[in-house]
Amino acid sequence: MSADTRAAWPKDVMTTENSRPNRSGKPRHQDGGKPRFNRAPKPNHNHNPRRHRDEPEEKFIRRAIPDIDTPFTQMGIDARVAINLPGLGIETPSPIQEKSIPGIVAGRDLLGLAQTGTGKTAAFGLPMLTRLLNIGRKPEPRTCRALILAPTRELATQIAENIDNYAAGTPIRQFRVVGGASINVQVQRLERGVDVLIATPGRLIDLIERGAIDLSQTGYLVLDEADQMLDIGFIHALRRIARMLPKERQTLLFSATMPKLMAELADSYLTDPLKVAVNPPGQAAEKIEQGVHFVNQGDKATLLAEYLSKHTDELAIVFGRTKHGSEKLSKLLEKWGYKVAAIHGNKSQGQRERALASFRAGDTKVLVATDVAARGLDIPQVAHVYNYDLPNVPENYVHRIGRTARAGRDGRAIAFCAPAEIGELRAIEKAMKAQIPVVGGEPPFEVAKIRERGGPAGRGGPGAGAGTARKRPARRPSRAPKSAPRG
Ligand code: AMP
Repeated sequence: MSADTRAAWPKDVMTTENSRPNRSGKPRHQDGGKPRFNRAPKPNHNHNPRRHRDEPEEKFIRRAIPDIDTPFTQMGIDARVAINLPGLGIETPSPIQEKSIPGIVAGRDLLGLAQTGTGKTAAFGLPMLTRLLNIGRKPEPRTCRALILAPTRELATQIAENIDNYAAGTPIRQFRVVGGASINVQVQRLERGVDVLIATPGRLIDLIERGAIDLSQTGYLVLDEADQMLDIGFIHALRRIARMLPKERQTLLFSATMPKLMAELADSYLTDPLKVAVNPPGQAAEKIEQGVHFVNQGDKATLLAEYLSKHTDELAIVFGRTKHGSEKLSKLLEKWGYKVAAIHGNKSQGQRERALASFRAGDTKVLVATDVAARGLDIPQVAHVYNYDLPNVPENYVHRIGRTARAGRDGRAIAFCAPAEIGELRAIEKAMKAQIPVVGGEPPFEVAKIRERGGPAGRGGPGAGAGTARKRPARRPSRAPKSAPRG
């Protein structure tokens, strides 16, 4: 979503059905988009003297099915949905869409190994909308026809925005329920029932316990970023939710990695699933230029400032390990003159949404984040990822660097490795089955030896061909940033 759209679109309500600013069938941020067929009239009907009193408002929803033939309609996607896609820059199906949509449309369960950025939201969202459009009835009170579970508020919000865009001009509405927002408002809205409910598992359980939502009519279920839901500790919530769903349903499970616990989860949720993998787990996107910089823990902030000041106009995400450490680092960077925001578990939802909105709009250039807060973020302009602290779960390295090189762009990911983090570095390289090229600092003796031999992971990482390896001489960073950031 563009910054302009956000400005014109109240933040608090932007993902609820009531907020849909554009019922005319136009994807919201594409006012000058491609010509559309059977476009509904502009929604100024309240002032139309010719409008008959009893005429339902829904006449302004696109009713006729457009006569179009696109790669998506050829895979069985409803033309009322497919017509929105070119305006969103979605012309040709991505590999995950190509492999999964026909099977999903045919009613198969799906186990998808794919990260955010592969187009998986459309892979599950387009067949879901196609199916809901064909039901043609309103949901009953306190029920939802489709349920999408996501690990974090941010991912839930992103999914909600995508679904709104894909469903523009159709009668299908989504509603997002996440922690940190008023539960009473959510209870009230669910009274009417909802087509698509997008929820974090914890809040969904709260709502179920209050009797606000009943899942007995939920025929379409999506578990998105399932591995992260397990990491966060949602396994019990997910087991409970599984028991409340009807047996007759279609389930899609997406995960970037396939830990052991996932097999159990997949077993309890899926029936004879179609298995689809893009970007096998543990492998980072090829377009990311990676590097590791060896540095003492105490010199990391200065080193970060040096890197940041070389690219002051580009967006960067800095990953810290703890909430406290990330907050402290963001305050320090702010003091040094950087436009910075922090996003982690100690921030309120309002603060997190404001931080993300200003980062997306480019007003804030640096986002300091922890793992829980930042996985799954899809912000195409992110050019740099700095692993200020190395993650202790190796798979998270792949998720973190996947925040850059999105939507066909290039991206750079630098890992700061302190002497105490050598174990983490080796675990990451082992998980990726590749070495990360050294771009600065001096590797400890035993690491240098292993690297000379080709290391446990073999020579060259996914970024090894990127021309960064061993070019720069080892150096110690200076105590203060060399140049002040612009702007
Ligand atoms: P996702 O993996 O669902 O988070 O999607 C990442 C981004 O890719 C989103 O901004 C989508 O709008 C975009 N996208 C999804 N499918 C396609 C496609 N077939 N072609 C181009 N962009 C796409």
